[in-house]
Amino acid sequence: MVIRALQDTTRDQVSSAGTHHRLADAEPGPALERDVPLWLQGSDTAVAALAGRLADGWMVDLEEVGLEGLATLNEVLDHAATDAGRDAREVRRSVTLARGDAADISALVALVVDHGVSSLVLRVGTDDVTTLRTFLDDVAPAIREGAERALPQGALSSRPVRRADARARRRPGIAYNEVPEELAGTAVEPGDAAFGKVRSTYLRGGDPGLVLRPRTVAEVASAVGFAREHMHLPLGIRSGGHGISGRSTNDGGLVIDVGGLDDITVLDEAARLVRIGAGARWRDVARALQPHGWALSSGDYGGVGVGGLATAGGIGFLSRKHGLTIDHLRAVDMVLADGTVVRASATENTELFWAARGAGANFGVAVAFEFVVDEVDEVGWAQLAFQAPDPAAYLEAFGRVVADTPRETTPFLILGQGVAQLMAMVDSSDPGVIVSQLQPFAEIAPLVQQQVVIAPYAAVMNMFPETAHNGRGEPVSRSAFTREITPGFASASADLIRSGASHWYQIRTVGGAVADIAPDATAYTHRDANFALAVMGSNAQRLDRWFEPVRRHASGLYLSFESDRHPDRIADAFPPATLDRLRRLKAKLDPHNLFQDNFNILPAHDHTRSAT
Ligand SMILES: Cc1cc2nc3c(=O)[nH]c(=O)nc-3n(C[C@H](O)[C@H](O)[C@H](O)COP(=O)(O)OP(=O)(O)OC[C@H]3O[C@@H](n4cnc5c(N)ncnc54)[C@H](O)[C@@H]3O)c2cc1C
Repeated sequence: MVIRALQDTTRDQVSSAGTHHRLADAEPGPALERDVPLWLQGSDTAVAALAGRLADGWMVDLEEVGLEGLATLNEVLDHAATDAGRDAREVRRSVTLARGDAADISALVALVVDHGVSSLVLRVGTDDVTTLRTFLDDVAPAIREGAERALPQGALSSRPVRRADARARRRPGIAYNEVPEELAGTAVEPGDAAFGKVRSTYLRGGDPGLVLRPRTVAEVASAVGFAREHMHLPLGIRSGGHGISGRSTNDGGLVIDVGGLDDITVLDEAARLVRIGAGARWRDVARALQPHGWALSSGDYGGVGVGGLATAGGIGFLSRKHGLTIDHLRAVDMVLADGTVVRASATENTELFWAARGAGANFGVAVAFEFVVDEVDEVGWAQLAFQAPDPAAYLEAFGRVVADTPRETTPFLILGQGVAQLMAMVDSSDPGVIVSQLQPFAEIAPLVQQQVVIAPYAAVMNMFPETAHNGRGEPVSRSAFTREITPGFASASADLIRSGASHWYQIRTVGGAVADIAPDATAYTHRDANFALAVMGSNAQRLDRWFEPVRRHASGLYLSFESDRHPDRIADAFPPATLDRLRRLKAKLDPHNLFQDNFNILPAHDHTRSAT
């Protein structure tokens, strides 16, 4: 009981005043990938009864108990399990065989069919390779075949049988027993050990009813089919779990987590064409590309997942030189709401290809992306800290310097009360170029700290170690774009920073190569913006009070930095013509609005479940 309680990371503390083990306020964890099953071994009725009451498995030696004894002990175990309110199938039975028992296939089939044995252990000398080979190659398949023939269809399913306490945590409205066979083994329910690892995202606390973890495209299609049968529940689509709105988790709904589809493959070395699974993280992408002398601009944090970022935009440290992540996309494979798998590119499903680059999450589950990546040598990487007692003055000066800075340099600025922190990447390994492009930034205000290094892009993406996703509560984030930092924008920003309503004020620079793409070429339209603002707080009302004046000096927003899912924000993200076009496509590809639980684009003729 103590081990079980310590594995249960949904509990805050564990205490036990047992005879043998005492604990006071112990902290459970760490969250495990799967339950550690507890097995008992023994051939007397006391052990069988205890196994029935508490264990996940029971082992017995056939030589010791014989077939009759096995039947009797099995009965004892079954009764004890039922008396304890358990399903007797929860307790797996394992029988150890002597070498001589291994030849009688019909007797072994009977162990499975008549005695419910699910694993057979053969006791042989370590040098008896011949017996082992025969058992594995001939006997085991014959037993399986015989048992399949004798038992009703599906009885030999690999579907895990969960303990009663785990089943008690199931949420209403989910057909747990109908989870497709191929997904059942990796699915995580609230009572499973792995739940603590998958329930929340990086920023948002969650309590979903079921997390499906497909490992292949066919399994993703199957998960989408299961979700279609649960239209009444929230549906989160998760790749890396770093979504700022936190909608890749929910309360009582389903999550389809494609984190396992994380292959990174070079398709064409000469063309620098790379295929990347939606579940890969940008740190892994950077690491995989580095030996080729390549990089793909993503963002400022290597733990972010490919699926969420590459369907929204991707404002990264190489954006001014090389454009957004989506500007490198040549094709994407998606599972649509009806379960079909399509490829979208400049020549196939072109409307979807347009939509996938900026509004992809509304149209399906992206499973793989093909990007043309850039040749990037080592880069200049700067972290500068300044005194900034007058945030408005600092911001205006920063805006002026950015306007005169060549594309090679992409700075991101975090501004707080009295301090400014600037991170900038210069796409050059030439110290002269790096210093000359950074010097004007260094002169904005008194420097309190500076570090400039020449490093591979992958080193910057791997700067922060990945931590378990332990988000709590609701993230509160606001976003806006602006072409320039006007005095009005700077002064409203300074008021916001001084108000304390925000604990995070960050401006990423865009423009440059981002603006080389026509606004209607992709669903991400804000090509003329030079600055993307992200502001985070803990109280939405309070933050909005101070953010609204900033918004009045800005235009549009980047959905990936927003958490307010009000329709006005959708209208800010997509100008009317873009939104109309997206809604028409949505009506075609997802008319029943299956994919609605992040920033929802309503189908043109809306006849859906109620939008949240
Ligand atoms: C610390 C941090 C730093 C960040 N830095 C940057 C940055 O520099 N530049 C930038 O552009 N963004 C940045 N972001 C925002 C980030 O790009 C988005 O939040 C992105 O959605 C996260 O992707 P994910 O797969 O990790 O998230 P998830 O939480 O897994 O998914 C977020 C949302 O994306 C959609 N989605 C996820 N996977 C798929 C899929 N396979 N198919 C279709 N839709 C899918 C769903 O709507 C989901 O709710 C940052 C976020 C964090 C938390």
